[in-house]
Amino acid sequence: MPTESSAFSADEGNLLAATQATIREALFRLGYSADMYELLKEPLRFLTVRIPVRMDDGGIRVFTGYRAQHNDAVGPTKGGVRFHPSVTADEVKALSIWMSLKCGIAELPYGGGKGGIVCDPRRMSAGELERLSRGYVRAISQIVGPTKDIPAPDVMTNAQIMAWMMDEYSRIREFDAPNFITGKPLVLGGSHGREWATARGVTIALELALAKKGIPLEESRVVIQGFGNAGSYLAKFLHDRGARVIGISDVYGALYDPGGLDVDDLLERRDSFGTVTKQFRNTITNAELLEKDCDILIPAAIENQITRENAPRIRAKVLVEAANGPTTAEATRILTERGVMIVPDVLASAGGVIVSYFEWVQNNQGYYWTEKEVEDRLRERMIRSFERVYEIHQERKVDMRLAAYMAGVRRMAEAARYRGWV
Ligand code: NAD
Repeated sequence: MPTESSAFSADEGNLLAATQATIREALFRLGYSADMYELLKEPLRFLTVRIPVRMDDGGIRVFTGYRAQHNDAVGPTKGGVRFHPSVTADEVKALSIWMSLKCGIAELPYGGGKGGIVCDPRRMSAGELERLSRGYVRAISQIVGPTKDIPAPDVMTNAQIMAWMMDEYSRIREFDAPNFITGKPLVLGGSHGREWATARGVTIALELALAKKGIPLEESRVVIQGFGNAGSYLAKFLHDRGARVIGISDVYGALYDPGGLDVDDLLERRDSFGTVTKQFRNTITNAELLEKDCDILIPAAIENQITRENAPRIRAKVLVEAANGPTTAEATRILTERGVMIVPDVLASAGGVIVSYFEWVQNNQGYYWTEKEVEDRLRERMIRSFERVYEIHQERKVDMRLAAYMAGVRRMAEAARYRGWV
């Protein structure tokens, strides 16, 4: 089906500019005024903090952190905290906008938020990480809270870090506040299923996309970039469903076997940062992996992996974005023109925030659900979200990314309009 593509005025690779261009296009097609774009193009609130941390060698290091709150017209903002050496202000802003879109697509009562700290947790001790996590919460405590802005895990943050952050916030406020943050360990009010939620959501989105294309999941050849929280659970779920996982990767390289990799063995060997390839000799590069012949390609690592440069050589029939922002706008256009079905990040990876929402609801009620209840409710929401986006894609004849943006931005814009902001 011929489709029109989203706007491409942004420099390739500039995540914030590309997101803004697509938001503008989505709002325009929905009939909103330029004023609405002015409101939604940037976060309403953006805080930069400097966090002094006593290191194990006795010295002090001052880390830079960010918290972005994109829009709270629908409800409190929500989104993960990323620990990574290359975190930037613009990246955090773009990620907070994507969170707004995800919440809009999944009809969650939130706006988008995001946080990040410029650091490398792989080079820090547990004590240093704890002091940094607590320092970050003290630095942002005035603008976050269970009815203001609710953090969660993201790249290189995990349930332990969420536990330290929740404890710090509870101490500051002098009451126990499990609903301050999601992705906690089960004993501290975490939800069943949060750990695998993103991967389960991606799997559901993939099943729905394959059904539209008439491709069976069983025996499909899958390549997954990234073997962390999202990528490793995905490899497991797809392997269990009978798909053939022929390639995986981490930051150091990639493993590829057209006959199928031993997924269970790789899961056993991976470390907590999602690295595994260093234990093997016959590795290829991430760039080579992305271009291998496969049916399904799932970027589940970092941004800007599929660009105008390599998009013409991507051989997958379906591209499902588990990572945030792995495909540039130019690459989206090239792939869409070539008939590759793209399930965009703001739809495909919404499972994480959906189950984070379930965790927050359970914390607020003090009543906890079974794993099956979580899974059933996640499935129901992912199906509704996918079908809504697909319908816009078909009816408006726009690519799946623009369709997802149109679905995502609409609730936010309506809420802002009813509140009288625009
Ligand atoms: P993670 O830190 O657990 O794993 C990241 C993986 O990517 C690791 O295997 C790492 O080695 C690999 N990687 C890092 N840099 C790379 C590079 N330059 N090239 C190739 N591989 C590289 O992170 P995660 O939580 O699995 O998140 C992965 C992606 O999914 C991110 O874009 C994140 O924003 C997105 N996401 C995660 C969640 C979640 O709940 N964890 C939810 C939604 C979206």
